[in-house]
Amino acid sequence: MVPVLVEKLTALGYEVAVEPGAGADAECPDDAYREAGATVDATAVEGAAVVIAVQPLEASRLSRLPAGTATISFLPTTTSPELVAAARDAQVTAFAMELIPRISRAQSMDALSSQAMVAGYRSMMIAGERLRRFLPLNMTAAGTVPPAEIMVLGAGVAGLQAIATAKRLGAVVRAYDVRAAAAEEIASMGAKPIELELDTLEGAGGYAREMTEDRAARQRELLTPYVANADALITTAAVPGRQAPVLVTRDMVEQMKPGSVVVDLAAESGGNVEGSVTGEEVMIGNALVHGASNVPSQMPAPASRLYAQNVINLLALMTVEGEFAPDFEDEVVAGCCVTHGGDIRHQPTAKALAGKEGTAT
Ligand code: NAD
Repeated sequence: MVPVLVEKLTALGYEVAVEPGAGADAECPDDAYREAGATVDATAVEGAAVVIAVQPLEASRLSRLPAGTATISFLPTTTSPELVAAARDAQVTAFAMELIPRISRAQSMDALSSQAMVAGYRSMMIAGERLRRFLPLNMTAAGTVPPAEIMVLGAGVAGLQAIATAKRLGAVVRAYDVRAAAAEEIASMGAKPIELELDTLEGAGGYAREMTEDRAARQRELLTPYVANADALITTAAVPGRQAPVLVTRDMVEQMKPGSVVVDLAAESGGNVEGSVTGEEVMIGNALVHGASNVPSQMPAPASRLYAQNVINLLALMTVEGEFAPDFEDEVVAGCCVTHGGDIRHQPTAKALAGKEGTAT
């Protein structure tokens, strides 16, 4: 939560208590929360009806919450099954921000989009700062400096934001995405869509589908000359629930020019670029390859503000006359509810955990 939005929670009828230092890393001092009408209290979580966080509480803290307490946070159900089990066993009602259905009505609650927007913008700043050349065309008395060529792979929320940022900085931008609608979206940002002689891959809900290895290899082959020609390459491709696809091999990066920069925004989920390392910068051939790590946290104030507004919008949906009263029949509430009343409501997680716990016993 950020201080400027505390009054939206009080307007909904809630009292707000914040742990000391909770906002310090996001440039929100304790006094700002106090001035906004919140109390700053080391025992804020105890006795709370709803606990709001970015990362989920640890299992030991979840276990100590009274039955019926609700938590709203990111909750990676596939990678942290022990947290789901702890919330279930403590009869906590746990909501996962990443599970909010991506339907129009829930757009204002969609934290994946708001954080991807921050990451996409930042990825271009990371690339721009590392590129030791002008981004825009410069016509000077000493001659014309050509603009930088930026290539973006994956044109979802993050990719489109990277494109928009690169365009504002004056670069020439080319982009590719497997979805059918992507070419038009790329062009609407002022970039040049890369058209490959390949089928588009549209999955459920407008997301990408996984590629066959044959298609992936052909895509890499067709993209090779574009990658070789780019001054900076930004990769943002993801397929929901899967490891990120490898779009660019080491061999392709080795063909880039001296001074080239690669920012792999998908590094944390496996990487779009072979050889990228999360949280590190490595040289591959002539290119500096940046493996991005928790990029929204590099812009903590705006990322937190957007996230806090997403949470408030979800909370407003679950508040009736000043009381926290989630309607589990509502598609959005049901969609992001992981545990409630001692049960796992999110079916894929329930199945995965039943498998794991079945094996353990
Ligand atoms: P994402 O983070 O899952 O993936 C990023 C991009 O990578 C996607 O555009 C995907 O098509 C692309 N990609 C996957 N495999 C690829 C490959 N092999 N080569 C090139 N590109 C590849 O996606 P996202 O940013 O969350 O959004 C994807 C779509 O969902 C977009 O159309 C977006 O507009 C839509 N969306 C809708 C809502 C809503 O209605 N509430 C919210 C967010 C996003």
